[in-house]
Amino acid sequence: MTQDKLIKELVRDGYLKSPSIIEAFKKINRADFVPESEGEMAYYNIPLPIGYNQTISQPLTVAFTLELLEPKKGEKILDIGAGSGWQTALLSELVGEEGKVIAIERIPELKNMAEKNVGKYGFAKKGIAEIILGDGSKGYPEEAPYDKIVAAAYVKKIPACWKEQLKIGGRIVAPVGEQMTVLDKTGPDKFEQKQYFAFLFVPLIEGEVGDKSS
Ligand code: SAH
Repeated sequence: MTQDKLIKELVRDGYLKSPSIIEAFKKINRADFVPESEGEMAYYNIPLPIGYNQTISQPLTVAFTLELLEPKKGEKILDIGAGSGWQTALLSELVGEEGKVIAIERIPELKNMAEKNVGKYGFAKKGIAEIILGDGSKGYPEEAPYDKIVAAAYVKKIPACWKEQLKIGGRIVAPVGEQMTVLDKTGPDKFEQKQYFAFLFVPLIEGEVGDKSS
């Protein structure tokens, strides 16, 4: 399997559509975000273990999520659940030098992994990406408001604080249970919601940073 083949499959199956997102998938090499032991598996359309009971998301899930999120140049995006940093790097490529991606991760070792992997592309140095250790269930008010908020772990319900930290005209894309949910903020307290078919995600854990008990 090669990166080229994976991208062609995702286009053929309708997961990848936008030229800018296809271009980002070409520029950001998934092999840079998987552990060395998984290297040859990087271009398979499957999630892969990254340690600490977590996975780098399946390519089709990330493609589907980004197509719904519609990231644009210059936007400020909150990326909840940085994990390997792959989606953070794709988002950084999409928002470009005028944009900002704040990625939040609760497991210290994965926060460091994301930082190292995203660092391969110089996005932090250019001031585009920032990886924060914290509990994303609270959002990240310090940098709010955001144009977009995206989550890579499922929630039972979209937290009210995510909605508050979103700009009017902004969009949240998050798995709610098994349904991918798109929430558009159309007024100070007005939202429009759409739901898409089922995906499997790990749960978003609330509480202490680095607590590995759950
Ligand atoms: N986009 C990442 C997905 C990683 S899986 C990738 O492709 O690598 C989801 C991640 O969400 C895991 O790393 C997990 O530790 C993290 N996570 C779960 N609950 C969280 C929370 N409350 N705050 C921040 N990160 C969380």
